Amino acid sequence: MLHMQGVTKVYRTELVETHALRSLDLHVRDGEFVAVTGPSGSGKTTFLNIAGLLEEFTGGSYLLDGEDVSKLGDDARSKLRNRKIGFIFQSFNLIPDLNLFDNVDAPLRYRGMSSSERRQRIEEALTRVGLGSRMRHYPSELSGGQQQRAAIARALAGSPRLLLADEPTGNLDSQMARSVMELLEEINSQGTTIIMVTHDPELAARAQRNVHIVDGMVTDLRSEPALVSARP
Ligand code: ADP
Ligand code: ADP
Repeated sequence: MLHMQGVTKVYRTELVETHALRSLDLHVRDGEFVAVTGPSGSGKTTFLNIAGLLEEFTGGSYLLDGEDVSKLGDDARSKLRNRKIGFIFQSFNLIPDLNLFDNVDAPLRYRGMSSSERRQRIEEALTRVGLGSRMRHYPSELSGGQQQRAAIARALAGSPRLLLADEPTGNLDSQMARSVMELLEEINSQGTTIIMVTHDPELAARAQRNVHIVDGMVTDLRSEPALVSARP
């Protein structure tokens, strides 16, 4: 699904050069649930943004589902991102003045779907995360756990093969965090590959595989692909 070899990322400003990724090797198989851990500033978010085609990289190679990402122009890259990838963030990133239905609809509008197909996907996704009765609520009317569920629905509505999660439980208390983690596990068991950055060792331990990033590199052997990764 995802093959990164020697990926580097340098941020340059007039005064400083930051080597956010030094030579990152990572292979993730279809259907895996991978947790990414590491100290603050080690490059986890940079890795996730590159994996999700939100950011370009400086060197190395990256194949996503067999496609050489470095060969794609801007248009092809955003098409591939819209088609294959869903994101969730620590801060949910819901649009405050749209209700849940319209929040989930927002990314679908870029995909040229009919309004009836969009409606069906929105209702399905919100129902799947347990918010089927709250489609007309606004984010401010919901708890943090519910807002993160809505953000997960927005990601799922596009039927992504790969779900990228940056500290998805970082703003939640431990009970809500556990319930969001259970939802992610269920989504993974239904076939979506998940890569999740987390500081929470308890959640990381529940993933199939842990990848530890230090100083822009993957550090340990446990980061090899799991021998058995496919789930029914
Ligand atoms: P982590 O997610 O592990 O905390 P990041 O990927 O956010 O780490 O950051 C890795 C390094 O790259 C840090 O030194 C950070 O300051 C730097 N960095 C991240 N984004 C930018 C940016 N847009 N411009 C300059 N430096 C950045
Ligand atoms: P779940 O873990 O199932 O997503 P939560 O733990 O997020 O549920 O919320 C539990 C209940 O508390 C919800 O039914 C929600 O309505 C209510 N709640 C918690 N915080 C808020 C809030 N800030 N505004 C409105 N309702 C809230």
